[in-house]
Amino acid sequence: MVKTRERDLVQAVRVDLAAIDPPRACCRAAERSGLGTAAQGRARSPVVARLAIRLADPEADRRPAGQLPDLDWAAARSHCRSAWLRGRFLSAGSLSLVAAGAHLELVVPMGEGSELAGRLREAGFAPSLRVRRGRSVVTLKRTETILAFLRHCGAGASVLEVESRLVMRQLQGHLNRVLNAEGANLERTVAASARQMAIIEQLEVDGRLAEASDIDRAVALERRAAPEATFSELADRLGISRARVQRAFRHLEDAAAQPAGDI
Ligand SMILES: [Zn+2]
Repeated sequence: MVKTRERDLVQAVRVDLAAIDPPRACCRAAERSGLGTAAQGRARSPVVARLAIRLADPEADRRPAGQLPDLDWAAARSHCRSAWLRGRFLSAGSLSLVAAGAHLELVVPMGEGSELAGRLREAGFAPSLRVRRGRSVVTLKRTETILAFLRHCGAGASVLEVESRLVMRQLQGHLNRVLNAEGANLERTVAASARQMAIIEQLEVDGRLAEASDIDRAVALERRAAPEATFSELADRLGISRARVQRAFRHLEDAAAQPAGDI
C-alpha cells in the first residue's frame, strides 16, 4: 500500500515535469536534446512519448535517429540548461523514495557520464558518478539536493507532495526512536528496581533496615510498594525531592555493602 503510494508519487513527479510546455523555442530545442533518443521515438513511457511529440520540430525530425545535436552547455542560458536537465531526467532518470529518504539517478552511456555530472555540478547539484553494468550512473543522494533538483527542473505541486511524504517519514522515525528510548529507560528502571529490592530484602533480613533513617526507610518501603516506579514517582509519592530519593538508595546500598553487625 505504502509502496504503491510512493510509486504513484514518483509517477506524479514525472507527469508534472512532462506537462511543462517551454514557451521559448530555445528551451524546446534544449529539452529535445536532453531527451536524446527518447525524442526520436524511443521513449520509455507514454508520458515521455507524448512530450516528445509536443516538442517535435520538423527540422530536427529530418535528422537520423541518435544524431540530435547536443546542447551547447557553455553558451546556454539558465532557462535552456534547466530544460535540458529536465529532458535528461525524463529520459534517463529515476527517482525512488526509500526508507532512508530519496534517491535519484540518471543512467547514461559510458561516454556521457562525466559530462552530465559536470553539468549537474555547475547547476549547483553535487552528483556522484560510478559505472554499473557498462553504463554511467550519475546519482544525487541528499534529499535536499534531490528536491532542489526537481524544483530546478520545474516540478511544482508534486515536489511539495514528495517533501511532505519525506517529512512525515522523518517524524515517524523520530517517534519510533523516542518510543525505543522510553522502552530502554523502562528496562533500566526495572533492572535498578530489582537490585534495590534485593538490597532492601537483605537489610530487612539482617535487621539493619530498622536502623536506617526515617526517610531512608520510608523510601525503602515505598520502593517495595511500587517496584516499577521511577525515582521521580517515588519522590512525588513521599513528598520529597528526587535527589533525596537517590541519596536514600545510596545510603541503603552502602549499608548493604558493609558486613552485617558492622555499623
Ligand atoms: Zn531557453
